[in-house]
Amino acid sequence: MVSIAWLRDDLRTADNPALLAAAHEGSAVALYVLDGESPGIRPLGSAAKWWLHHALVSLRQDLEALGIPLVLMQGAAAGTVAEFVRETGAEHIFWNRRYGGPEREVDTAVKEWAAEKSVHAESFQASLLHEPWTVRTGGGGPYRVFTPFWRTVSAMDFRAPLEAPEKTSPPKSVPAGENLADWHLLPANPDWSAGLAEAWTPGEAAGLSALEDFLAGPVQDYDDGRDRPAKPGTSRLSPYLRWGHVSPFQVWHALARVRGKGPGPDVFGTEIGWREFCWHQLFHNPDLATQNLRPAFDGFPWVYPEGAGQTPPVLRSVKTEQSPSESRPDDLDPLDAWKAGLTGIPLVDAGQRQLWHMGWMHNRVRMVTASFLIKNLGIHWRVGEEWFWETLVDADPASNPANWQWVAGSGADAAPFFRIFNPATQAKRFDPDSAYISRWVPDALTPAYPEPLVDLKESRRHALDAYESIR
Ligand code: FAD
Repeated sequence: MVSIAWLRDDLRTADNPALLAAAHEGSAVALYVLDGESPGIRPLGSAAKWWLHHALVSLRQDLEALGIPLVLMQGAAAGTVAEFVRETGAEHIFWNRRYGGPEREVDTAVKEWAAEKSVHAESFQASLLHEPWTVRTGGGGPYRVFTPFWRTVSAMDFRAPLEAPEKTSPPKSVPAGENLADWHLLPANPDWSAGLAEAWTPGEAAGLSALEDFLAGPVQDYDDGRDRPAKPGTSRLSPYLRWGHVSPFQVWHALARVRGKGPGPDVFGTEIGWREFCWHQLFHNPDLATQNLRPAFDGFPWVYPEGAGQTPPVLRSVKTEQSPSESRPDDLDPLDAWKAGLTGIPLVDAGQRQLWHMGWMHNRVRMVTASFLIKNLGIHWRVGEEWFWETLVDADPASNPANWQWVAGSGADAAPFFRIFNPATQAKRFDPDSAYISRWVPDALTPAYPEPLVDLKESRRHALDAYESIR
């Protein structure tokens, strides 16, 4: 008897309840569906596609070692999954829950279809420490403030991580599925992914080893180290959590081993809490990526230039270079200058170039570059969110919009709008010897480095005046 584990954002063998359940029921087959068709499902950005390709290669190997074949299919997930169940004659299908609105609709449709056909369909909690509908304020609604949310959630008892399934014999016949190469997830002509490949190894083993490396050292100074972009002071677990190579249960229980030796591990635990809080927001506000959580911001006079998620020609022409250009073309518009790291503001340019090069940016610098785009350039937060969606390997449908809204002031428990990061002051404080800036903007002290795109003081004043207009 064949059982299906339908894998999605949980590309791992350990602590995977759906995979374990499928293996217990008999011969297990793992299915991954690339769904760019179901209504509302957000197509992956280019950096995410790169990650997914390598993640599936790695997952296939890990599953094969357990006797579980991985089958790839493409299409609207509800119909594709049903077709696969019919083809295999499976009597059981299992998956781990997703929390975005359109994804939940797909999963509900599959569950209803399975019930009609007397196929056993069951879902599990695996990607979040809390189920967003189980945690409510005293008033009965979802949380909008982080501290009480995390006080409630962190007091819960999180189950221990599960082992990977034991090795079994694979089913006798399995549909071939599609070829990963035919999905064209990797960039070609030009292939701009060299920086990503240099920085990352997608997959479960690499994720678990990043966790162990972090716990063996940097976690102890995390309370300070997390704000120093030049240092390897953070875990760099975000893409591994995003793709589910590592589960939050694994992180939480591993963290328990190093707690009590200083504030670092507790502060790190709180950041895992922010991830939960972002998903809590998305579950209760499925339009998080497009709608201000605070409607007062609907009237804010932000600029919304065309081409939010598109790569500007100035970047396309340099492909794999670390520094996109040594000077800023005169006709480059402010949005493209921000994307390309050519604003003339060193910390902003360093962050944007780090992002372009390695598909990731340090959190402190994410806040600074986001604040600069929204507040100094007056550009809508959605534009920045779409660029991060396109370029981050950890781009996730909850953390990305929730954090952009946090910086904009339009989100839950957000930074007040009038708190405008000054990139020069931030650089002095968090990159005092300019190690981070020199790494990413080696041209900062050369005559070719562009003049600042805007005057920081004047643009700050404009932003505050605009804010007055909606108060
Ligand atoms: P660590 O400092 O080691 O933190 C550990 C983990 O906690 C992270 O891997 C992440 O899963 C979680 N975490 C930490 N900070 C946050 C936070 N503010 N919000 C939610 N989770 C957090 N994170 C994403 O995972 N995906 C995104 O698309 C994303 N977009 C962002 C956009 C903006 C404008 C900003 C300001 C932040 C964004 N973040 C996003 C949050 C944060 O910057 C990254 O999670 C962090 O930089 C990842 O590096 P790390 O794994 O070394 O983090």
